[in-house]
Order: sequence, then C-alpha cells, then structure tokens
Amino acid sequence: MEERIIFSDAHTHIGTERERQERENKGIVSLVCASTPMEAQKVFSCKGRHLIPTCGVHPWYALEWGMESMEEWMKRCPVIGEVGMDSVWCSVPLDLQEDVFRRQLSMACSQNKPVILHTKGQEENIARIIREYPNRYLIHWYSCESHLEKYLSQECYFSIGPDVWWNEAVADVVRKVPRNRLLVETDGLEAVKWAYEEGRKACQHRPEPVKDPERSAGAELWEEGTEDSAAAALTATMESVSEIMGISLKEAGRLFRENLVNGFLKGRTEKL
Ligand SMILES: [Zn+2]
Repeated sequence: MEERIIFSDAHTHIGTERERQERENKGIVSLVCASTPMEAQKVFSCKGRHLIPTCGVHPWYALEWGMESMEEWMKRCPVIGEVGMDSVWCSVPLDLQEDVFRRQLSMACSQNKPVILHTKGQEENIARIIREYPNRYLIHWYSCESHLEKYLSQECYFSIGPDVWWNEAVADVVRKVPRNRLLVETDGLEAVKWAYEEGRKACQHRPEPVKDPERSAGAELWEEGTEDSAAAALTATMESVSEIMGISLKEAGRLFRENLVNGFLKGRTEKL
C-alpha cells in the first residue's frame, strides 16, 4: 500500500466547520488558536482528537482584552498563544503590548506550558524578552531577515508559512534552522489566500522572481483548491519546504509531525 502524506499544522485559527471537519477526518494535528474569550469558547466547543486548543491575548487585542479575560481559558490549554508584540500591523502602544505579553510569558512559565509567538517588527525585542522566561517557544511565520540566531540559541521551533514559495526571507528560515526545529503552518485558510495573492503580485514586480508562480508548487496546487483545503494548503507549503531541504514530501510530512508532537508539544498532550 502506498504510504500517505502525514499532515500537521503548527498554527491555525478557528476557521469554518468544513475546515475543522477536514482536519479531523484527515488526521491533521492542528494547534487552533483563540485570541478572544468568544473564540476560546468556540475552540473548546469543537476541540477534537486532532484539534488542540491554544489561547492567549494577541498583541492586536491587548487594549481590548486584558489578560484577566483570557486567564481561565489559558489555564485549560496545553499551549499558550499566539502572544507577542507587533509594530507593523497594529497601533496598540508598545508599552501596553509588552506588559500584557510579559504577564502571559510569566504565566506560561509557571504552568510549564510552551508558547506560540507573534513577532512582527519586534523580532529583536522579543528575542531579548523571552530570555527572561526560559521556556519552549514556537516562532510562528518568521519573515524577518535578521535576528534569527538570537532565537536559535534558545529552545525555539519555527513554523514555516504559506508564502515560502516566493518570500526569500521565509525560505531562508528553512535553510538556517536545524531540521529538528522546523514545522509548517497555514495560519488559517484566509492567511493562505492572502499569501498566495501577495506572491502573485511580488513575482510580477520582481525582475527575477524566487520562483515562476506559474510553475511553482504553490501556484499549481492552489489551482486545485488550495483555498478550500487545509491539506492542499499544507501540501503546497511542504512541497516548497521539502525542495529547499532536499528531502521528499512524505519525509517532510513525517518530520514536521514528529517535531510538533514529540518536540514542541512534548509532554503536553495525550498520545496522538
Ligand atoms: Zn495567527
């Protein structure tokens, strides 16, 4: 019998009922993130064998939702996040973001729970801050050209986002991070769609694109319904990542699931 591809998604959001069903049916181990109390309620109500809830105050909502409103949910989760700081896509004052972030890091440490980090524009700052809270971290969709080594010297995993087929900074993370610290993510199908559209634009404007979008795995698989399927989106991302790593797609699938379940999540979930 032909061996099938093994899927895992290190970071996603709640998505549609259909998407959640697909994840359960295809056995896609997925860390499903809730950033507000309403989302947390929903994530817990549809928690399944392969859908693992993660909760935390996202930096975009640090002003709206203090840590108190999420604390109870965070106590019930095996993983905290996504939490972090962002100076690119939001205007919440950074001192307030940092305060909420630090309190969540401190809670995660005291409860011995690994943390998913959002680092946009604050990569250097966050690498410094987390040193004060020794823990296991997952840096989600890292797309910065610098400071990677400041994370690599700590216990950090990296989940590769769906723009890896055209974004050189993301492809570089694949090249530089040791293979036992690499994971893949969708960040939800909306993010996959966004990444794909940005890729089409970037490749049109570049004199020499990273890859020809017409020929890349990302583009081809999109045509077959990437937008509607977590498995198709993950396959497209894994195609590019495995090509950079020089391993087969199936090997990549096994490796990323192993790194997620027995690496980042180690000791935090029931047997998967
Ligand atoms: Zn996210």
